Amino acid sequence: MIETYHSCAKINLFLYVTSKREDGYHNLHSLMTQIDLYDEINIDFTKDKISIVCDHPDVPENASNLAHKAARLFYRSMKTTGYEGKKGLSIEIKKKIPVGGGLGGGSSNAALILTVLNRYHKTPFSTSELMKMGLDLGADVPFFIFGTAAIAKGVGEQLEKVSNLKPYHIVLCDPGVAASTAKVYKNIDFRLTSNQKYNKYTGLNVPIRGQEFDVKGQMHNDLEESACRLYPEIKETKEEMELLLQKKVFMTGSGSSLFALFSAHDNAKMGCDRLIGKWAGRKKKIFLSSFNR
Ligand code: ATP
Repeated sequence: MIETYHSCAKINLFLYVTSKREDGYHNLHSLMTQIDLYDEINIDFTKDKISIVCDHPDVPENASNLAHKAARLFYRSMKTTGYEGKKGLSIEIKKKIPVGGGLGGGSSNAALILTVLNRYHKTPFSTSELMKMGLDLGADVPFFIFGTAAIAKGVGEQLEKVSNLKPYHIVLCDPGVAASTAKVYKNIDFRLTSNQKYNKYTGLNVPIRGQEFDVKGQMHNDLEESACRLYPEIKETKEEMELLLQKKVFMTGSGSSLFALFSAHDNAKMGCDRLIGKWAGRKKKIFLSSFNR
């Protein structure tokens, strides 16, 4: 029997790069939330081997696919529990999340495979064991396993639940250029990141328990300057979006996708239609989405 699942995208509502680590990675302080833009994943658990198909030309249909890697890692870990059973499933990914868009599509797919395999095998691993497993596949994988909006620290593996995030509609745009995460981090000019601002305003970034946490006015991305220098299309798209939407626009993750927040659905829809009208036929993709709704 084939089961269908939704694998959600994420956005970084704020992202501060706090320091460079000795292992070459960077420490972050970021507020992340899942949004209601998702890939559809169909899984057949009756198979004896791992196989994968995906309808997106830039996503590999082999062992390098993150979902495939997740399945292999899960079965390897199962071995340590004494499991000797079948080690296979077929995965079909119908991609809606832009690839290389800073929306965490690959990480989300990997997290979903770990989570559903764990459930299918009657939870041999706890959520924190699964998150540790996921970290080997990518820094954003633990967040997707965690499953709620969260402040992420370290490389993204230290997660603190944010339960009272104020919901918003978002207009999201994929400028049509895939940003390389490695290049964007390598290109950071630390003189321009807001390390000092982050230290000064840290208090602002911690949601107060019990109160609704409104992120408006606190959005920020330390990777934007680097991504815009590497990929001028991101900068141009951001400036055009700000004019057309009359809103502040921010980049998510290491790019390239950009978004603006709206309180009212109708205004978000109008903004979305304005961008579609302006960019019809161009390689940019526009989505109307939301979080916490
Ligand atoms: P990251 O910042 O982790 O690179 P991203 O959201 O910018 O995340 P993804 O959409 O996850 O980017 O894809 C990044 C790369 O991972 C692409 O080059 C893609 O070919 C590869 N990849 C491997 N498996 C997948 C998958 N299941 N879905 C999407 N991309 C995948």
